[in-house]
Amino acid sequence: MTVETTRSTPKARVRHWCEVCGWAIEPGETYARVVRFYDGTASTWKNHVSPCQTAINRAWAAEYHDGDDGVSDDDISEWASGNRDTDEVAAEIHRRLEINAENSRAHREALARIEGQRQ
Ligand SMILES: [Zn+2]
Repeated sequence: MTVETTRSTPKARVRHWCEVCGWAIEPGETYARVVRFYDGTASTWKNHVSPCQTAINRAWAAEYHDGDDGVSDDDISEWASGNRDTDEVAAEIHRRLEINAENSRAHREALARIEGQRQ
C-alpha cells in the first residue's frame, strides 16, 4: 500500500522528466511533485501541471486506477488511448507517448545497426 506524504507544485531548478508523458520539465517550469512511501522506501513522482496533471485527474475521475494507490503511468496510457477521440488532453498525452514509442523503436534499430557493423 502506498502512503502519500507530500504533494507540492515547486518550480524546477534543474531539468526533470515527467512520469506521465516522459518529456522534460524544464528549469523554471512549475510542476507537480508527490513524495510517497512504499514498503519503507521513499519515491518521488514528478509530472507536468499541464497537460499531465489534468490527465491524472481525468483518468482518476474515469476510474482508470487500481484501488487507492493512485493512477499509474500504465493507467494514464490506457486512459489516453481510450479517450483520445473525445478528450483533447487525452489526445495530447497519447501523441506524446506515440512519439516516445517511435523514438525508442528508432533508438533500438540504431543500436542493432551498430551491433551489426561490429560483426
Ligand atoms: Zn508530462
